[in-house]
Amino acid sequence: MGTAGGVTNFAGLYGRREGRMEQLVRGVASELLDRIEALGGLNEPQDGMGGRIRVRSYDVAAYKCAADAWLTSHRVGVLFHALACGVHLEDGRIDALLLQTRSGRVAIKAQQVIDASGDADVAALSGAMFTLGDGQGQMLYPSTMFRIGEVHAGRAQAAIGEFGAIESLMEAAAERYAFPRRGAILRPQRNPRQWRANVTQLRNESGAAVDATDALELSAAEMEGRRQIVQYMRFLRAEVPGFEHAEIAEIAAQVGIRETRRVHCQHMLEGQEVISGARFPDSIGLNAWPIEAHVDGAVQWQHFLDPDNAYNQLPYRMLLPLQPAPRNLWVAGRCAGMTHIGQSAARASGACFAMGQAAGTAATLSLRGCFEVAQLQRALKEKGAVLV
Ligand SMILES: Cc1cc2nc3c(=O)[nH]c(=O)nc-3n(C[C@H](O)[C@H](O)[C@H](O)COP(=O)(O)OP(=O)(O)OC[C@H]3O[C@@H](n4cnc5c(N)ncnc54)[C@H](O)[C@@H]3O)c2cc1C
Repeated sequence: MGTAGGVTNFAGLYGRREGRMEQLVRGVASELLDRIEALGGLNEPQDGMGGRIRVRSYDVAAYKCAADAWLTSHRVGVLFHALACGVHLEDGRIDALLLQTRSGRVAIKAQQVIDASGDADVAALSGAMFTLGDGQGQMLYPSTMFRIGEVHAGRAQAAIGEFGAIESLMEAAAERYAFPRRGAILRPQRNPRQWRANVTQLRNESGAAVDATDALELSAAEMEGRRQIVQYMRFLRAEVPGFEHAEIAEIAAQVGIRETRRVHCQHMLEGQEVISGARFPDSIGLNAWPIEAHVDGAVQWQHFLDPDNAYNQLPYRMLLPLQPAPRNLWVAGRCAGMTHIGQSAARASGACFAMGQAAGTAATLSLRGCFEVAQLQRALKEKGAVLV
């Protein structure tokens, strides 16, 4: 999502601790930020919602190049254009992963497997239990992201620089335009003449959120996202100061998916645990993003109850799928062990970085033999991760 989905913004890395806004997700996230910054692709932190949130926008091209160089420097073997499409199970473990590649179908022998597919494809193929969305046919609504160029930086900043200010302009124009949702996020990129737009909302024919595990719905959503963008550009050019000569700089290569399958894990992080700043003895990192639920026609926010300590810990158990899942499988990212509401917060990239680092470290440690959570926590701290 961070590159092909055009998200262009890191959320959940910063939060308030003892009243002070600081970077609460570090470790691999800091390494990546440094690499993007070295390529000139990272914006200064931007505050919003009366100082309750802090985000950092980035240039997608810089993210891709930084990630390539980062993986190469660690001699990671990478296989692009390969889709996991099956598993070979043996003795309760994944013995091999089947991939559809441009060279045909191949099997990769696996000792440890981490499913960070967002949609929990591997977990589902392995027979793990999961819930799709809220379990009653609703998921967080997807959006197609796009970037806008040729913006008059000063006038746009004056008109809608404050987080949420675009919404009053949309309300005033609501009779003339069919907006897919109330609530829009329009923010400048590092180059202030270029803005990122998070304004679309994608439904299926029955009006429910597009189900990205359904091939036909996902395909239709690609075109619907682009249709909504053309409509929204009409509004921006006609009604919003600074956007009179704006152009579409880029439409993301693929629909942005917020939620599909969430795997049943030893712990399911709940919304209440997020906003009450839950602490866990097996913490592997922090989430500093509040609940941001993309529901029908709107975005609903629920903030941390203690604004001076606005973060929660993430337990290791949310990476461990319940049986009958294979024993050598971890899940990380937006498909990990979270309830529908918990995922509305901890799907943001900050928590995904923390989960990914923890799952990778745990898989490596367990390859070396006996493994305890305290050992994992020590290894994560040595690599700069913040756990408490
Ligand atoms: C429109 C939108 C706006 C957002 N805005 C923000 C924001 O401003 N800030 C923020 O921090 N977060 C934002 N998010 C949330 C955040 O970007 C995602 O939740 C997060 O990136 C999820 O990370 P992930 O690694 O779990 O999954 P993904 O980013 O979805 O990555 C999954 C990867 O697995 C690959 N994959 C999937 N299936 C297979 C398969 N079968 N075989 C092989 N590979 C596979 C995919 O190609 C992809 O590369 C936004 C999300 C969306 C959709």
